[in-house]
Amino acid sequence: MTRAMPRDSFHQIVQGVHKFQRHVYPAMAETFRALEKGQSPSTLFVTCADSRVNPHLLTNTQPGDIFVARSIGNLIPAHGSGDRGTAALIEYAVQVLQVEHLVVCGHSQCGAIKSLLDPHDDATVPRVTEWLHYDDPARAMIQEMAEKAPAHAMLKVATQHNVTAQLTNARTYPAVATAVALGRLELHGWYYDIGSGGVESLDPVRNTFHPLRADA
Ligand SMILES: [Zn+2]
Repeated sequence: MTRAMPRDSFHQIVQGVHKFQRHVYPAMAETFRALEKGQSPSTLFVTCADSRVNPHLLTNTQPGDIFVARSIGNLIPAHGSGDRGTAALIEYAVQVLQVEHLVVCGHSQCGAIKSLLDPHDDATVPRVTEWLHYDDPARAMIQEMAEKAPAHAMLKVATQHNVTAQLTNARTYPAVATAVALGRLELHGWYYDIGSGGVESLDPVRNTFHPLRADA
């Protein structure tokens, strides 16, 4: 695999910490002092672990605003599937923090979705292969929807249908189903285009994605 961009050196990351302490922290000291007392994020933001996706930058949010859950392919394994990590994140966000929104945000050029379209068990990364098997129940649907799309849009369509599949999985959690039924929690599906900065949002009635409206 070729690298699209030169790798940042670790030295640069350490320098970043020092810049944060010298410039960013003093300017936001009040915010951080308030956050020391606790967190009350409005939103559980589930997205891919991909380094090109930066949830705070994308949503222009500050520390304390969003509770972020990241995984390869922004999967939410269904309740009872055996995955404990995502289940714990959902439980904590919905039951303890009582978030009012749950966003599943997929993104363009997602490697996990590419491998869903062209599945092969890779012995060199057995845990990744194992993780992606959590999407097996949705895989046929995702592949079928992608095959109906024009060639240039296949990956995008697959990524968007993967987002809808994860929202379906989210509803299998009793805490989520209850909060949604009580009107305490709203679910949202997003698709983020890395190259353009565009964000499309799922219309759950039509099951189609449209540019995210400013008044959403
Ligand atoms: Zn990804």
